[in-house]
This record gives sequence, C-alpha cells and structure tokens, in this order.
Amino acid sequence: MGRQMTEKELLAGFDQALAESHIFVCYQPKMNHTTGRMIGAEALMRWNDPVNGLQFPSDFIPVLERNDLIHLADLHVFEEVCKFQKMILAEGGSAVPISFNMSRHDIIHEGYVDRIEKLRLKYDIPVKLLHVEITESSAIGGMELVTNVLDKLHSLGYKVEMDDFGSGYSSLNVLKDLDVDVIKLDMRFLSGDIGGRGGTIISSIVQMTKWLNTPVVAEGVETIEQADYMKSIGCSYIQGYLYSKPVTAEEFKEKLRRTDHEPAAPAMDLISTMDAGKFWDPNSLETLIFNNYVGGAAIFRYQNGKVDILRINQKYMKEIGMNMTEKEILCSDPLETLDDDNRRILMNTLKRAAESYDEESCETWRTVCSKICGEDRICVRSDIRMIGKAQDEYIYYAMVRNITSEKKHVIAVEESERKFRMASEHANVYAWEYIFATKQMRPCFRCIRDLGVPPVVYNYPKPLFDSGIFPRDYEDMYYKMLKDLENGAEKAEAVIPLTVGRVPFHVRYTTEFDENGKPLKAYGSATLVVD
Ligand code: C2E
Ligand code: CA
Ligand code: CA
Repeated sequence: MGRQMTEKELLAGFDQALAESHIFVCYQPKMNHTTGRMIGAEALMRWNDPVNGLQFPSDFIPVLERNDLIHLADLHVFEEVCKFQKMILAEGGSAVPISFNMSRHDIIHEGYVDRIEKLRLKYDIPVKLLHVEITESSAIGGMELVTNVLDKLHSLGYKVEMDDFGSGYSSLNVLKDLDVDVIKLDMRFLSGDIGGRGGTIISSIVQMTKWLNTPVVAEGVETIEQADYMKSIGCSYIQGYLYSKPVTAEEFKEKLRRTDHEPAAPAMDLISTMDAGKFWDPNSLETLIFNNYVGGAAIFRYQNGKVDILRINQKYMKEIGMNMTEKEILCSDPLETLDDDNRRILMNTLKRAAESYDEESCETWRTVCSKICGEDRICVRSDIRMIGKAQDEYIYYAMVRNITSEKKHVIAVEESERKFRMASEHANVYAWEYIFATKQMRPCFRCIRDLGVPPVVYNYPKPLFDSGIFPRDYEDMYYKMLKDLENGAEKAEAVIPLTVGRVPFHVRYTTEFDENGKPLKAYGSATLVVD
C-alpha cells in the first residue's frame, strides 16, 4: 500500500497512467455457493503509481468523476476486459461473463455505449461475455436517461446488473421501473445481525426480486454464515472475500482454469422459501393455480401515505379491475378511489398488519372509473399481510374479493325491512321478525305498545302462549309452522285468533335466506281479518 496521491498529482499523472497501464484491472469471481462453481466475475479498476504505489478506487475515482475523466478510465477497463476475454477464447479456455462498471458519469456521456460496442466488435467478443453494472443511484436526477441507456444496452444484447441495490435510492421503485437482468445486493448495506431485522429486509427483497423474476447476486460476502444465510433464503450467487478478493488478470486466469463454471441460470435454482415466490413465474404450476384457483391478489408498497401497486394477478383484474389494463392498475393510486372514511379503514388495517405480522382484513368501498365501465362503486374485502419492511417502506400482500353484490343484497334487505317497518306503523298491521338460530323475536312498535310484548322475546313463541296473546289450542299448529319455515319453506300463513279476546288475525311469514340458502329469519305480520 502506497501513499495516497493528491488530486493534483492524480490529474497530472492520468494520461501517462492510462498509456502505461498503471491503471489496470483486477477480477473478482462470482460464485454459485450451492455448487461451488464460478458464474462470472467483476472487473475492478486499480491504479498502481510507480512512485506512490497502489491507489484505491475510493480515492481516485471521485477525482476522475469530478474532472470528467472517468469515461476514459472506464473505456480503458472495458478494453482490458475485451483483451482478457480474447486471450481466454484464443487459448481455447472456457470464459465466464465479466461485468464492468458503468458510472453515472458514463451514462451522461454522449455516445458512451457506442464506443464500448465498437471496442467489443473490434475484439470480436460475444456479447454474452460482457455484463454491465450500473448503480441504483444512476437513477438520481431522473429515470429517463438511465432507461434510454438501458434500452440501448439491451438492444445490443448486453445483460445489465443493478449494482449496490438497497443502498438507499428508493430501491423498490427503481427495481420496479428499471428492467435489469440481475440484482446485486451488497451485504455491507445490511445493518444488524443476519436473521434479525436486517435479515428480514434482505429476505423480503430477495422475495420481491423473485416476484419480478430477477436473479440476485449477493456481494461483499465475507463469512460462510452470510453465504449460508443467503443460500437459505434462495440466493446462491455470491461475490466477496469469502471466495476471493479481487485478483490480477494472471491470477484470475489461473482460477478460471482450476474452477468449474456454469452459466447463471435466471432465477432457476433459487430455493423457494415461500410458495408465493413462484407465483410470478408465468410458467409455473403455482401461477396456474394462483390465476385459476385462487382469488385476486396484489403486492403493494406503502410509504409516507402513498400506496404503490407492484404486482397483481389475473383474478385481481377480474375482481376489481373494472376492465382496466394491468398497466392502468399498476399506475393507479388505490387511495384515490377511497373517500376519507374508507381510507381510514384501509390505513388502520395496514397499521394492524404491520404490528401483528398476521393477516388483517377490511371491507372498503371504492369509486372506480374506467374508460369502458364509467364510474362505479364497488366494495372490496381485503385480507392483508405485511411481507417486508425497510425503514419507512412497507410491502404488503393482499388477497382481494369484490363483495359488492353481497353487500348490495344486505343493504337492499335492510332497506326493505326498514320500509316494511315504517309501513306497518301506518297500516293496521303487527309485524315482527324471528331469528331461527337464536329463537329470538323482535316485535314492531305497535306490538310493544298495544300488546305489551317486550322489545326482544327470547325462546319464542313460548312466552306469548304463556301470556295468553296466542291461544293454547293453536300451540301445535304454530310450532309446526315455524318448523316448516326453519326447514326451508319460503312462506307460511294461517288465521289465528289472538289475545284473550280471540280476535281473528291473518298471520303471514316470509323467510329470508343467507347466501348459502340457509333460512336466517322469518318476517311475520298479523292483520285483522275483516268481514
Ligand atoms: P463496487 O462496484 O460495489 O465494487 C465492489 C467493491 O467491493 C470492490 O471495491 C471490491 O473490492 C469490494 N469487495 C468485494 N468483496 C468484498 C468483501 O467481501 N468485503 C469488502 N469489505 N469489500 C469487498 P473496490 O475495488 O475498492 O471498488 C470500489 C468501488 O469503486 C466499486 O464498488 C465501484 O463503485 C468503483 N469502481 C471500481 N472499479 C471501477 C471501474 O472500473 N469503473 C468505475 N466507474 N467504477 C469502479
Ligand atoms: Ca460493481
Ligand atoms: Ca457493488
């Protein structure tokens, strides 16, 4: 380790450092921890000054970035990588993909991608042997530029790895919006113990990325415990001091010769820690079941009062999609469909789910608009479970059901009951309801006022026979009538002399059934027989 050079010294020596390869490349293998095979490597820049000794990227890269020189150094690294791959291929060895770092400054640089592509063609390296690493923070200051560069790289066939995922720049948002091929999780961004809070976050990110079907490489892995933990949550791809520090080209070539390789299979041999992990693979049995035999489901993110839908299944669209496209749903803010009361209900449920780590449920009315259906109000039942948490960011999994018609039915029944009660006040009618399950009878106001019936009659109809409102000789007949109703008869009627005065009344019953067709209540009325 040499003396750290000043900015002035670095700038003064830069051209010569490039020309004389004082700036050179080290390689760090990426391994499959399950098989022990190599799946690739990362190229890392070094500067060995003849006078001051080895300089580290953290010291000189910011200087080069500030002075708009980093793209020259990065092109040099890229060319060195091409030469290395060329040598391996020329010697008949088997090569692995090597990733190179693309700085935010390179992305801004006009024509940078064209220049690397030109070099690749010059050395005639298959594009699959060159991966690009871009950092999550490249998205700072707008996605558009990164998206354009990413599209360009993809159109040329480069695989793109998202570097330093989780380092902070609203990770899940970036992940959702950037179509990367591999995600690199840096273990050094983890605070606390593995398996503890940090572990939970990592585990839920790995879970997330699996839903997005993107393989994960864990980097900065120094201990076997870290590697085993990552493997246990379904991430076998490891880069770090545990397997190897970055080594010189010669040493790496030797490692390459001695170690078996394998291609990194996209999300293939990842161990599923939760069946939901496979839900998003369009070709899995889970997806078939999920889409056909399970109801609507969504994964969404909650942060600072905002809800962001990340994934939905086909049934979700059928249940509450109102003919919207998947894209329209993903771009919509569900909170905007709720009024204040319903929003409060949902928020409370999210809060409960975050506290209980358990499934919590709620029913909310939403106003949904769509081009085809226009505006409509629907009632949604949601069973919600928190599946991940990082600082103020919460990830939830929700099973949803459109219960509008059930709700409307209940409301309609309540409404007709209310009307019926009101009408009976005006007509010469006594009315009541009888609940089969509890044998309770609830009389109308007139029954209470005129006949002295209590507001709730338990063990109906016995007390009414006891008090003489119903005559004893009609006991068998009346019990049989109630039994018939309880057994499913929709209606019943009879003329019964009521009260001690034995005044003939026409008694009628109508049954209300629950959604399974089971008798719930009978509505009774008694009208005076006049003639
Ligand atoms: P990075 O891209 O995240 O690279 C990984 C860094 O982690 C490397 O540091 C590597 O040596 C280090 N590392 C790998 N395994 C372990 C481990 O188990 N424990 C610890 N503590 N560290 C580990 P390095 O080589 O010092 O590079 C630092 C950063 O400099 C890189 O972070 C990257 O952002 C930048 N960099 C390196 N080479 C290049 C390059 O060619 N171009 C550009 N633009 N940036 C580069
Ligand atoms: Ca990197
Ligand atoms: Ca990194």
